[in-house]
Amino acid sequence: MDEIGTGTETFDCDVLVIGGGTAGPMAAYKAKRKNPEAKVVLLEKAHVKRSGAISMGMDGLNNSVIPGYATPEQYTKEITVANDGIVNQAAVYRYAQNCYEMIQELDSFGIRFLKDETGNFDVKKVHHIGTYVLPMPNGDTVKKALYRQLRKARLLMTNRYMATRLLTGKDGRIAGAIAVNTRDATFLVIRAKSVILCMGAAGRLGLPTSGYLYGTYENAANSGDGYAMAYHAGAELSNLECYQINPLIKDYNGPACAYVAGPFGGFTANSEGMRFIECDYWSGMMMQEFYNELQGGKGPVFLKLDHLHEKTIEEIESTLHNVERPTRGRFQHGRKVDYRHEMIEMHISEIGFCSGHSASGVFVDENARTTVQGLYAAGDMASVPHNYMLGAFTNGWFAGED
Ligand SMILES: Cc1cc2nc3c(=O)[nH]c(=O)nc-3n(C[C@H](O)[C@H](O)[C@H](O)COP(=O)(O)OP(=O)(O)OC[C@H]3O[C@@H](n4cnc5c(N)ncnc54)[C@H](O)[C@@H]3O)c2cc1C
Repeated sequence: MDEIGTGTETFDCDVLVIGGGTAGPMAAYKAKRKNPEAKVVLLEKAHVKRSGAISMGMDGLNNSVIPGYATPEQYTKEITVANDGIVNQAAVYRYAQNCYEMIQELDSFGIRFLKDETGNFDVKKVHHIGTYVLPMPNGDTVKKALYRQLRKARLLMTNRYMATRLLTGKDGRIAGAIAVNTRDATFLVIRAKSVILCMGAAGRLGLPTSGYLYGTYENAANSGDGYAMAYHAGAELSNLECYQINPLIKDYNGPACAYVAGPFGGFTANSEGMRFIECDYWSGMMMQEFYNELQGGKGPVFLKLDHLHEKTIEEIESTLHNVERPTRGRFQHGRKVDYRHEMIEMHISEIGFCSGHSASGVFVDENARTTVQGLYAAGDMASVPHNYMLGAFTNGWFAGED
């Protein structure tokens, strides 16, 4: 694996992928696999080995469409209904048709998914309708497994470069990008025949209700650079009114994860300890119920686990404190909060743009193409709704191969 050395001022390549989190590595990997002669560059402002939303905390594939459990048609219908019909169905359908192949490929990378005794994927029902959640007992190892594949593919990766602007030609076609080295502030101009934007969600647009600066649900490093750069290059954005807000643990940079505790009997409760949310899985409806409860004077709102058996709590702790976020256990301990004896106070995150969890993104078609020629987008910043990690991988694949 090579790096563009610091001090370089200009660089030419065939495909420039910006953002080395989830969609980006897959896009670069697929582009290189399709055309080994092509010069493919993966540019990341942190370090590809540890960066992005999957560097920690994946407890399952939220939206797997696996034969025997769900069909592409059923999935597309559900996403359409969930988005009041304001959705590019072709992109959702293509994802749904191909994500199973992606799961099999990830499985071959050594990423562990829950399987039953016959060796088949053991998919769980967590959403209102449909069965889509495939648990990952070792969700914290996804990035490591992916990074191993990138090394094998001998991709040209460059860390610590933050892209700031896209370059376009007189004809409006994409021509490359400008980046700044986050260590020595030198600029790099990369000329590219095509550019794939995979820079994640736009978190940190404001403060959460607690006023706590880092109370963001999204990966705190993703602050919408991709949205802004695409917009300045002339790309259409879509569904920005479908922004997202999320329940967080108060004063902690991380989700409360009632949906993780749900299958074990945990739930979101009001100040009287009563359940008021029909389904703890994230949806606009769930957030509306949350908001109504606060407005109705029954807040604050809590994650309630104190009624559960010790063994069940241990199991939940193992997921929340190991797979989900290792800092969470330390945080709760520091606050002297024990799930066995008290409820955990939640707050609402700041507003964010994220197609991965809601619907707002840079508009893309079913090939991950934006409205600017030669410019692609995949993952949380592209407009395919409720796409999560598997969508980032699958659409990254489409972009890389196109
Ligand atoms: C707390 C949390 C828990 C989640 N849990 C699950 C789960 O259990 N299951 C599931 O399916 N999905 C889950 N998701 C969603 C899933 O992780 C995301 O949808 C997916 O990983 C997004 O991939 P991405 O490539 O778009 O963004 P990321 O993986 O975040 O990658 C974006 C990358 O771009 C880089 N970058 C940003 N700006 C620049 C720039 N200007 N220049 C260079 N690089 C830049 C960032 O450093 C980062 O590495 C979770 C998300 C969060 C936040």
